[in-house]
Amino acid sequence: MKNSKGSLVRPDPLPESVSTPVVTPLSPSVVYASESPDELDSQYEGRVHGYTYSREGHPNADVVAKRLDAMEGAEGGVVTGSGMAAVSAVLMGLLAAGDHVIGGNQLYGRSLRLMKEDLPRMGIATTLADPGDVAAVAAAIRPETRMVLVEVVSNPTLRVADLDGLATLCKARGVLLAVDNTFTTPKSIRPFEHGADIVIHSVTKLLSGHSDVMLGYVVARDPELTEKMRIFAVTAGLTPSPFDCWLAERGMLTFDLRFDRAQATAVALADHLAGLPGVKRVLYPLRSDHPDRDRATALLGTQGCNMVSFELEGGRPQANAFARGAEGLSFAPTLGDVGTTLSHPASSSHRGMTAQERAAVGLSEGFFRVSVGLEEPGALLKVFSEAVAAATAVS
Ligand SMILES: *Cc1c(COP(=O)(O)O)cnc(C)c1O
Repeated sequence: MKNSKGSLVRPDPLPESVSTPVVTPLSPSVVYASESPDELDSQYEGRVHGYTYSREGHPNADVVAKRLDAMEGAEGGVVTGSGMAAVSAVLMGLLAAGDHVIGGNQLYGRSLRLMKEDLPRMGIATTLADPGDVAAVAAAIRPETRMVLVEVVSNPTLRVADLDGLATLCKARGVLLAVDNTFTTPKSIRPFEHGADIVIHSVTKLLSGHSDVMLGYVVARDPELTEKMRIFAVTAGLTPSPFDCWLAERGMLTFDLRFDRAQATAVALADHLAGLPGVKRVLYPLRSDHPDRDRATALLGTQGCNMVSFELEGGRPQANAFARGAEGLSFAPTLGDVGTTLSHPASSSHRGMTAQERAAVGLSEGFFRVSVGLEEPGALLKVFSEAVAAATAVS
């Protein structure tokens, strides 16, 4: 039996409606049918817009890209299947064998692995340097250096990159500055306004916000570079699924409110923790005792981030007691979720280092990183008071 459009198998098109849905429709179709070879020519030659095959692009990805473009003050950004897909599109889509790239020495763990293991295997040389020290980055530049890749606020010690200094340096030396803005988000800082050439996001984190989507985004100031990354992403299959894009868009509708709430609670939590017996130190970029406070204020204004790190007195027994005592919070290695999550670098992200190596970067057994969520602030502070008290009760 044929349907009314003549298809032997496929269902009828959706019923017509003069009213329109208020929610973006989900379009899981992998393929899009064109009318004729002439029409396909028009599509490929850009005279009309039309989708062909969803690895090359689909409506749900484009809706998310547009929203992120507007937030970053950019155009034509590429949505990818994860944050690491976006980082890979930058490094593998733009660099070639013989090039050299400098990475921040506290990049996200998998970005560090790309720098240390995978790029060298492909003939791309890498160096790590402190993104807060422009002179150190300058000293690492070679004639073949093509790019510097940094995060605005680093994980988990929350140090702040000297973005303005790096932008001046990179411009003078003809090097691209790529900035991973995942922790800070465009609510805190728009890296293009500080001279960045490329902006990267793990949309998985605060932007989607519910820990049910993996997604990434990347865009360059120069449309030719964005196009190169798009082509690489399509070829390497870094494309996102329509459903993940649909969920991400749903999350992004409330991003503004979620960020404000989590950020304000993070400020309160940092101050609260600093007053608790048994807490050795607290790290929050906008606190007066943070080593990068002035730079954080200049770059981020009053919107810091939702991340707070702190160090408990004692060692593993105290850390165990704290994690067990933090009732209602997830001890889980992610960030940006609606619920507060705790991570413990010594047993997770930094477990590959020796205790001495960790001590050198200030990551003892008592060090925790907190991604502040949307709990009622008073109730959240109470959980922390009780969990720290449980830790100090351990001898
Ligand atoms: C999580 C994260 C990534 C990787 O993103 P995924 O979506 O997990 O692939 C990259 N950079 C930073 C700063 C991150 O926090």
